[in-house]
Amino acid sequence: KTKSENFITKFSKVYTPIVVLLAVAIAAFLPVFMPGITYYDSIERACAFLVISCPCALVISIPLGFFAGIGGLSKNGILVKGSTVIENLSVLKQMVFDKTGTITEGKFGVSKILGNENALEYAAYAENNSTHPIATSILEAYGKEIDGTRIMDVEEIAGHGISVKLDGDVILVGNEKLMNQFNVDYPRVDELGTLVLVAKNNEYVGTIIIEDRLKKDSKQAIQSLKATGISSVMLSGDRKVVAEHIAKEVGIDSVYSECLPNQKVEVVEKLLPNGKLGFAGDGINDAPVLALADLGFAMGGVGSDAAIEAADVVIMDDNLNKIPLAINRSKKTMKIVQQNIVGAIGIKLLVLVMAGFGLAGMWLAIFADVGVSVLAILNSIRLLKK
Ligand code: ADP
Ligand code: MG
Repeated sequence: KTKSENFITKFSKVYTPIVVLLAVAIAAFLPVFMPGITYYDSIERACAFLVISCPCALVISIPLGFFAGIGGLSKNGILVKGSTVIENLSVLKQMVFDKTGTITEGKFGVSKILGNENALEYAAYAENNSTHPIATSILEAYGKEIDGTRIMDVEEIAGHGISVKLDGDVILVGNEKLMNQFNVDYPRVDELGTLVLVAKNNEYVGTIIIEDRLKKDSKQAIQSLKATGISSVMLSGDRKVVAEHIAKEVGIDSVYSECLPNQKVEVVEKLLPNGKLGFAGDGINDAPVLALADLGFAMGGVGSDAAIEAADVVIMDDNLNKIPLAINRSKKTMKIVQQNIVGAIGIKLLVLVMAGFGLAGMWLAIFADVGVSVLAILNSIRLLKK
């Protein structure tokens, strides 16, 4: 439940006994203090008073606003897990992005193979069981059937790469960190692109240079966020040159590269005190961060099940423009919920006072009850528009 929903629950607890007692007082004491008023009149006024004070509109208007907000978002391919998410979205201050699969497509093309041509075959066998976007791309580039019986002892080392046994030889496939960890010597490469280094029995075999493409909407999404006053940060496990190149291209404010999964957690912990923080990722090596952020955004298309599970917001078509859209619509939802609260309480109080003075008959009482509910519903329906 959101703050506004809790407010209404508390409010009704105080409000209901008060109005019932007031109604009894009107019925019993009005004829005593005001000459000319009969008990018939006073009981009628008390009944009108009770009808007006029925808290229907109040109790339905808030959840209804949020349901409509959630419904409107889902029509736009944005799944939101509950009304607190809407509340948080409306006050978001900083947005942190994973690189691969979030800002970029996560579909790498092999642009070059250095060293031994066998590197691609070894890499494909090693990546056969991985769900990492790099793995999918290498398997696609290799394109041939994989004989699973040749592979044993697969071990995925998060943020580094993979180690497997292929026909009894130990194959390492991953970044420079992985090679350093196993003391493999390798030639340095300065080219732009993500490097996948391959080693066999701790001997360097070759380097596959792969390149990812920006999603076509990433730049625009970051700009819209900026226009709303939200700062952007990018986290990546990839090389510094690649991460910084991409950040510059889309206009990200700050970059943290060559992060291991636990370093991503540390960065987000450090940023959390600066204001409501959202994190968008695909869940591969970043599910802990998704859960840690005030708001986790998962990519519904390329995202892993763990990410979709841990996230608060799921973007079905992976389009980053949906993030500013979700923020704007949540702000609108909060506005409509507030209009409903102020409108319902305001009209009710006014008509209640009028009824106390005998200025509101039963017809106005019914308007203050059912009429206000209908107005709140109509107001909320505005959020369902696409
Ligand atoms: P990002 O933060 O860009 O999404 P990850 O944290 O998923 O990247 O991975 C960080 C780095 O670790 C990758 O850039 C890659 O060099 C290496 N890596 C991770 N998993 C694999 C894998 N299955 N095969 C090859 N390299 C990998
Ligand atoms: Mg990733």
